[in-house]
Amino acid sequence: MDRLTAETRIAELTKQIERHNYLYYVEDRPEITDAEYDQLMRELLELEGLFPDLAQPDSPTQRVGGEPLPFFEKVVHKTPMLSLGNAFNEDDLRDFDRRVRQAVGSQTVRYVCELKIDGLAVSLHYENGLFVKGATRGDGTTGEDITQNLRTIRSIPLRLSEPLTLEARGEAYMPKPAFEKLNKEREERGEPLFANPRNSAAGSLRQLDPKIAASRQLDTFIYSIGDLQGMRVESHSEGLALLESLGFHVNKERRVFSDIEDVIAFIDGWIEKRPSLPYEIDGMVIKVDSYAQQQELGFTAKSPRWAIAYKFPAEEAITILEGIEVSVGRTGTVTPTAILKPVSLAGTTVKRASLHNEDIIREKGLLLGDHVVVKKAGDIIPEIVAVLPERRTGAETPFSMPTHCPECGSELVRVEEEVALRCINPMCPAQIREGIIHFVSRTAMNIEGLGEKVVAQLFNQDIVRSVADLYYLHLQRDELLGMERMGEKSVDNLLAAIEASKENSLERLLFGLGIRLVGAKAARVLAEHFGDMDAIMQANEEELTQIDEIGPKMAASLVNYFRQPQAQAVIERLRDAGVNMTYKGIRVESGADLPFAGKTIVLTGTLAQMTRQEAEEAIARLGGKVTGSVSKKTDLVIAGEKAGSKLEKAEKLGVAVIDEAGFREILDNN
Ligand code: NAD
Repeated sequence: MDRLTAETRIAELTKQIERHNYLYYVEDRPEITDAEYDQLMRELLELEGLFPDLAQPDSPTQRVGGEPLPFFEKVVHKTPMLSLGNAFNEDDLRDFDRRVRQAVGSQTVRYVCELKIDGLAVSLHYENGLFVKGATRGDGTTGEDITQNLRTIRSIPLRLSEPLTLEARGEAYMPKPAFEKLNKEREERGEPLFANPRNSAAGSLRQLDPKIAASRQLDTFIYSIGDLQGMRVESHSEGLALLESLGFHVNKERRVFSDIEDVIAFIDGWIEKRPSLPYEIDGMVIKVDSYAQQQELGFTAKSPRWAIAYKFPAEEAITILEGIEVSVGRTGTVTPTAILKPVSLAGTTVKRASLHNEDIIREKGLLLGDHVVVKKAGDIIPEIVAVLPERRTGAETPFSMPTHCPECGSELVRVEEEVALRCINPMCPAQIREGIIHFVSRTAMNIEGLGEKVVAQLFNQDIVRSVADLYYLHLQRDELLGMERMGEKSVDNLLAAIEASKENSLERLLFGLGIRLVGAKAARVLAEHFGDMDAIMQANEEELTQIDEIGPKMAASLVNYFRQPQAQAVIERLRDAGVNMTYKGIRVESGADLPFAGKTIVLTGTLAQMTRQEAEEAIARLGGKVTGSVSKKTDLVIAGEKAGSKLEKAEKLGVAVIDEAGFREILDNN
């Protein structure tokens, strides 16, 4: 980039960042996400690095926070309240470690790792043990006197356990449940919502009426000593312990490490556990422990050189809704999917998001071309969580759901009690194709080599029109060889995988048929109870509902399914082809002496040697019942790699925990 372009861009960025600082720090209502803000800041830093003489002394990269509001008394901080340098990836942390070690020479370095609480920084002054004044960070040099508001926060001690004169610094924040409750109330009253718990905490503390702050259920975590008369501690970790003993709320999730790689591993663990916390964190803070070393390292204009904030990858991003695609599933349900302008989110590029059903489109008033906020739900499938109408240009257009099936053209219906639109044509090619994809999937017949694309090709070329046709494919070798990307070897492998699937136990076949409401678990219960396909086909609703886990709706659906001549024909063709129709699993008769008999078990984390379904089947075979969440009623938790909140809860409740090796041992012995 040439100098002139850089100069213009620097001016532009400065103006933009200043505007967002004002919205964020003064008005507590940001218009962009923190990740977008950080991106602007990084670009500015980069340009200032390339052209150091263009960097203005009052550039946002050199200044902390925003201005204090005029209607509060001002408080000048004895030592400035600074910001923190940022690390966005592991290499940034390793660079930080290198800089620290260079500065302190051959001394050992210890790092204290803490959660980075997403609230606002406050300074608390105590004289002879009594709370006398509290302030915001403001612009780092001058803050606002918010003593009356801080007095309403229960976790701020009004009197310390020792008569010390000191300044303590920490973060005031709003716990997630309080934030959700507050926004719900505001919504009911038609008031504007707070963007996040940080802004609502800041907004609550900068109110002139302390009753408002008192009603907001704020809390604090104190993380440093700003100033202590007669200082008697030598390190940050000792300082935190002292603060704790004086009666402050100090976050327990802190750890000390001497190797940066251990710091990185610790941070990694928190990326996963983060959603389970009852308060928001936006990263981790890493601080050099020794005060002597901190002093040696010193400060830049804006932040200490002895600390760094690791920012978590954003879980939310803003992008543009470019289109809405409508597809038909195997049960005929019509689902709209958002097509997004590709955006990077928590480490992956997101191009599509689930819209679940039409109501969401209507509820959120989505227009094609809208700016939308996407979030990873449970970290897997992204979804649209908000629309940003303020970013509309007028070029956006409304979307309407089709009235007819996009694949077969028949009219779509809304089935009673269901939100989704459905195509009810049983011959709809989309449903048949999706049904075959389900049949071959890992949880059903588990036929490797039959991905969605191959199935679609087989279907479109009329080679496979029903699941039974799969078992006659060996008679159509030439047609298979004529397909895209199908050589001798892949055809052989495919046919072998199909052949092998004939031996599957009955529950896989039963689940694979895709009978409405019959999931993998129900299929196993049925297979185990009846033993073979004929018995299930002949069972009436009464017999079926006598089984614990089979309700009247599922029973009706089963009877209905097996009554259809087409279904009977498919099963006969499968049988003729040699597909197994019996249950092969171990039957749990009395089960009393099985190792998991009567036990409620929770699986969490990833297992290296088996799929989740295999593990569940094994537990069931040994008499246990698998449930989704940990409670006092849980007897055992099996924790694989990267187990997160469930494992933690189990430990808290004192529930027995075994790892994968322990689980394997039990399986091998039985
Ligand atoms: P920061 O939030 O990146 O880091 C410094 C702050 O971290 C400290 O002042 C302190 O309040 C806090 N903190 C939390 N836990 C801590 C702990 N354990 N130890 C020490 N400090 C801890 O810096 P900042 O200057 O407060 O804010 C800058 C950030 O604010 C940006 O990176 C951006 O994410 C956000 N921001 C967003 C907008 C927007 O428009 N969306 C605008 C301005 C700023």
